[in-house]
Amino acid sequence: MCIFCKIVNGEIPSYKIYEDNDFLAFMDISPATIGHTLVIPKKHYDSIFSLDEDTKIFSLVIKLSKVIKEALDLEGMNILNNNGEVAGQSVKHFHIHLIPRYKDDNLKMNLPESTFNKKEFEKIQKRILEKI
Ligand code: 5GP
Ligand code: ZN
Repeated sequence: MCIFCKIVNGEIPSYKIYEDNDFLAFMDISPATIGHTLVIPKKHYDSIFSLDEDTKIFSLVIKLSKVIKEALDLEGMNILNNNGEVAGQSVKHFHIHLIPRYKDDNLKMNLPESTFNKKEFEKIQKRILEKI
């Protein structure tokens, strides 16, 4: 059983901030900033690629973001979700990170900037549109 499933069934303790029949939110054990929270479906899905499309997790992410903002006096929030090892996923139970941001938190989440020409954009767009 995966580590987050163990948190869901109470085998491993966690600092829970929200729970209902389908979802659980708890503090990340190594917080990137104060209030770093993970939101998970209780049901095990490895990643977004196997997640049921009807999973209503984002409305909870919105609700908890607002609650955490009120509670912790933060300046901003990064919502992060890693899928696959190549994307930095270490726990293979789908989860969304809520990472509060503060003025001088020194957290770096810089995405590299690249350039694509018109042809490249169109080619990529076409490949995706063919699958929708
Ligand atoms: P990922 O890298 O998979 O997107 O994020 C996994 C997150 O789970 C990490 O930020 C890590 O600190 C957190 N984590 C790993 N094991 C535990 C645990 O046993 N309890 C809690 N609360 N968080 C954990
Ligand atoms: Zn699991």
